[in-house]
This record gives sequence, C-alpha cells and structure tokens, in this order.
Amino acid sequence: MEKYDVIIVGTGPAGIFAAWELISSGKKARICMLDKGGSLAERVEETRTGVQKVKTERPDVLSCGWGGAGAFSDGKLNLSSEVGGFLRDYIKGAELSSLIGYVDGIYLRFGAPQELHGTDIQQIKDLEDAAVRHGLRFIPFPIRHLGSDRCASVLGEFLSHMEKRLTLRFHDEAVEILYQDGKAVGVKTGSGEEIPGDFVVIAPGRGGAQWLEKESRRLGLTTLTNPVDIGVRVEAPAPVMEPITDIAYEAKLVFYSKQFDDQVRTFCMNPYGEVVREYHGNICLVNGHSYSTRRSNNTNFAILVSTLFTEPFHEPIAYGQYIARLANLLGGEIIVQRLGDLLQGRRSTPARIERGTVRPTLTGATPGDLSFVIPYRYLSGILEMLQAMDRLTPGLYARDTLLYGVEAKYYSMRLRLTPHFETEVRNLFAIGDGAGITRGLIQASVSGVVSAREILRRI
Ligand SMILES: Cc1cc2nc3c(=O)[nH]c(=O)nc-3n(C[C@H](O)[C@H](O)[C@H](O)COP(=O)(O)OP(=O)(O)OC[C@H]3O[C@@H](n4cnc5c(N)ncnc54)[C@H](O)[C@@H]3O)c2cc1C
Repeated sequence: MEKYDVIIVGTGPAGIFAAWELISSGKKARICMLDKGGSLAERVEETRTGVQKVKTERPDVLSCGWGGAGAFSDGKLNLSSEVGGFLRDYIKGAELSSLIGYVDGIYLRFGAPQELHGTDIQQIKDLEDAAVRHGLRFIPFPIRHLGSDRCASVLGEFLSHMEKRLTLRFHDEAVEILYQDGKAVGVKTGSGEEIPGDFVVIAPGRGGAQWLEKESRRLGLTTLTNPVDIGVRVEAPAPVMEPITDIAYEAKLVFYSKQFDDQVRTFCMNPYGEVVREYHGNICLVNGHSYSTRRSNNTNFAILVSTLFTEPFHEPIAYGQYIARLANLLGGEIIVQRLGDLLQGRRSTPARIERGTVRPTLTGATPGDLSFVIPYRYLSGILEMLQAMDRLTPGLYARDTLLYGVEAKYYSMRLRLTPHFETEVRNLFAIGDGAGITRGLIQASVSGVVSAREILRRI
C-alpha cells in the first residue's frame, strides 16, 4: 500500500485549497484526496437536466464530491474576515486579510470574474450611518460573485491544474482516522482499506460534521460548542431591497433582539435570486441562490437567530434538526407563510399566497403556519429584525413578504485547534465548515491554505 505524505479527506474548497497550496509549493509531496461523493464531471452530468430532480432524488450529489457544497453554491466570495467563519479567533486581523487576498487571487486565476460589488466607499458609509440610526450594525465588505452557473467551471479549472499531481479517490469514504502514539498515521475507508499517511487533513464540510464529531469522541479530542442558528428565508420584491442591494449587493446586518438580547443577523442575500431547498440526509431545509445571468423579480435572504446553549446540553445539531424536522412533518418539506398571515395568527393558504404581490420563487413549498414550528424566542427575534430593517428598506415589513422555514445552520462542534488548525492529535488537522471554524467559501479556502503551510514547514 502506497504511503502518502498528506491525506486530505474531502474535496470541497477547504480540501482543494490545502491540496493546491501543497502542490504549488513545488515540494513534490505525495498527496491523496478522497471524497465520498463523485467527480466534477459526474456531478455536472447528474445535474445536466436541472438540479431540481437531483435535489429530491440524489441530494448528496449537490453537496458531495469535487467542489463539495461549493460546486452548486451561489459562489459569492465574501472578502471579509468578519463574515463566513470564526478564523479571527485563530489568526490576527492583518494576516487574515492578507490570506483572504491570497485565496481571492487564486479564484481570479481560475476564472472568477474581475468585478467586485460593494466598493463605493461613500455610499457604504451612508448605509452604515443609516443602519446604526435604526439599531442595526451594517458590516460592509466587497463581494466577488461567481454565480451558481459559474462555480463548476471555476472548480474545473482547479481540477485540471491539480489532477495529475495527486491521487484522487472519489466514492471513497473515510470511516476512521488512524492514529498511533498520539499521532495521526492514516485513514480507514468504508471498504476496510487502511491508507497510511504522515499528515491527515480532515475537511468534511457541514455534511461530514457529525462523522467528525463521532470520531472526535473516539479520539478523545476536546470539543467546544458553537451557536445554533435558526431562522427563516425572507423573500420580498427586489425593488424593496434595492436601497441595500444596489450599494452593497449583500448586506450583513446584525441586530440584538430587545426581548431576549439574542444576536439576529441577515445571511446570504440574493438580489433577484431564487429560494431553493437544501437536503441534509432526510431533512429538508431552505436556502437561496442567484445566477450570474438569470434574474427573478425577488430578493431573498435569511434571518438567523443565534443562541448558545449551556451545560449539560451538547447537541445543538440535533436541536436544529428537530426544528427542521417539525417543518418537514407539518409542511411536507418547506413551509411558506406571508408575514401578514403570521402576524394575524392564521396560516397562509394557496389562495392567500396567490393573491399576494410576491410570487414565490420556490415552487412546491406548502402554505402553512410557521408559528407551529419555530419557537417563540426565534420568531420574536425575526419579527423585531424585520421591523428594524423596514426603516432601511421601506416595504419589507409588509403583508405579502414571504417567510420560508426552516433555515438552520449547524456549526455545532468546534474542535480545540492550534492557530494552524492542528488538533490535539499530532499531524491531524481539521479545517473548513466541518471543523466548525468556517461557514463560507473564502474562509474555508483560507483554512486549507493555513493547514497546508504548516505541513509544508514540517515536511
Ligand atoms: C446552497 C448553498 C449555497 C451556498 N452559497 C455560498 C455562497 O454564496 N458563498 C459562500 O461563501 N458560501 C456559500 N455556501 C457555503 C459553502 O459552500 C461552504 O462554506 C463551503 O463549501 C465549505 O467548504 P468545505 O470544504 O469546508 O466543505 P464542503 O464544501 O461541504 O466539502 C466537504 C466534502 O467532504 C466530503 N466528505 C464529507 N465526509 C467525508 C468522509 N467521511 N469521507 C470522504 N469524504 C467526505 C463531502 O462529500 C464533500 O465533498 C453555500 C452552501 C450551500 C449549501
């Protein structure tokens, strides 16, 4: 059995950037990457007739394989240390900004568009001032938008520059991390094969977080709990949101709810975009995206409420999943409700949605009542946030604004990591969304670079 210098589990952005950094160093490290999903060509082929059917029949195709969840993501490269992860907890501000610039340069090299959104300093300053007057903090940052339709071609460019310089194993799942004397020595795959390696980098994404959590328990690693983010996806007419989206493209607004003092924030804003389903195993959540070439009449974004749970509770993922399951139980999959109906304490019906001014871009969502699903604490935070935002974007807190549920982000477990993302097991690194330290393409990519640089230093 060939022994590798580095084994990387997961070929999402975190794993790809770790591999790219190793390859481009010229050190000729022997690298093996394995992913339980398929190759990019397979994934593109399976979604050729549209992602809708794949979403219901083969949801794993959308999140697993070359490019990971990034392959069919909205492709918004958020160039900020303040969004998309917790890397500021590990890396100093100036160094992190420089790393973000570095990975952005690599995305550009492989086909990301030159155009940057959210760079007009005066307009951004005006928006910041207006937000603060209404109790909101506006976090400005530039965005490079690949668009869902361009992600695959950019990832294809990465692949063609890398594939000859590493061993790629698709449809190969890592089931165990092998270690000896407190040091990682390889991984065991689903077929029972043991692949030896000097360094192991685990980048399993959100879909692999539970596996990593289980492995962490087996290896006796210290875990820290991240917040649970639960909320809804809001859909409004695009012109209503233009005071924000024309300036910032995507606005990250942060608010602290008056009643519970919880952090409430906007997330993943998609001007002229579409609301979509997102499957995690047998659980269906809501999400949103936009295309670089196709426009709807609506803008959508998530409002998420973050809460930290206290001892003895240790299962925030399970908690989020219960709430999502409840929406699936009552609504089939996704529930949609007009804000006006929610405020009047009645369910939305197909007729009420039909006569509303906002045409749902997600077809097949069940008109229903989100108050049966989302706990009061979250719902009241969401309503307070919508009211505050209405002063920036008049018309948002309106009867016909649509709320889809449930949107939940599981960034549950964080491992205790060094500033280079090495775990308490020597030579075992954990990066990206699966390690609970990132939640976006740019920071996931940065985490890959940082782990690879440390490995290079030691090889
Ligand atoms: C619909 C959608 C839209 C999004 N839009 C944006 C956006 O616009 N901007 C943004 O910044 N972020 C966006 N994101 C988030 C972004 O895609 C993720 O933050 C990013 O992909 C995380 O990268 P990662 O490498 O950590 O994990 P992933 O991309 O999830 O990749 C993990 C890989 O590991 C593999 N894997 C897991 N477990 C194992 C195992 N045991 N053995 C072998 N392989 C395994 C999986 O198959 C997968 O291919 C979006 C996500 C979704 C789902």
